[in-house]
Formats: sequence, structure tokens, C-alpha cells
Amino acid sequence: MPGCRRRPGRHDLDHGQAHSADGPTDCWNLCCLCRRHHRIKTFARGWSFTLLPDGRLVVRTPSGVSRTTRPPGWCHDAEPDPPWLDELAPPDPLPI
Ligand SMILES: [Zn+2]
Repeated sequence: MPGCRRRPGRHDLDHGQAHSADGPTDCWNLCCLCRRHHRIKTFARGWSFTLLPDGRLVVRTPSGVSRTTRPPGWCHDAEPDPPWLDELAPPDPLPI
């Protein structure tokens, strides 16, 4: 949740696409919300929470203010191997 300062160990995992709407319990469909913000998402009227495929969470308040957050450390695209791995890897086998 943008701006939330609650400790990470006390969060709920919540489905971006609701489980009741066939949202899978997969990493890409889960976000961490503290209990307070989880309850706002679930029960309060006028709030919008959109979990994007790249891990960003877009939250819109009832007054229309929109904020986006990205989980720290999240990388949607796999990083390429560092060049030194190629130097340490054994050579490719010769074709038969
Ligand atoms: Zn929160």
C-alpha cells in the first residue's frame, strides 16, 4: 500500500484478482497488505486496488487520488546472467 509504514512481518497476503472470482493463489496474483489496508480493500466502498502484471499496485481513493507502488526488490523481467558466468561455465559440448 503506497505510504504504509507497518512492519512487513505483520501483513496479510491478498489476491489481486479475487479468489472468489477464480483468482489463483499464485505469486503474481498476491500482494501484501497490512490488516488495516486489507480491510479497506475488502470492505470500504469507493476504493480501487489494481495489481499490475509487473508487480506495481495502483490504489485509488474514493476522492479519486491515485498512487502507485512497486514492491522493493521486485523484478518482473529476469535479469541476464552476469558476463563472468560465461567465463566460468564449461564449454558447450561438441555436436555429435
Ligand atoms: Zn497498510
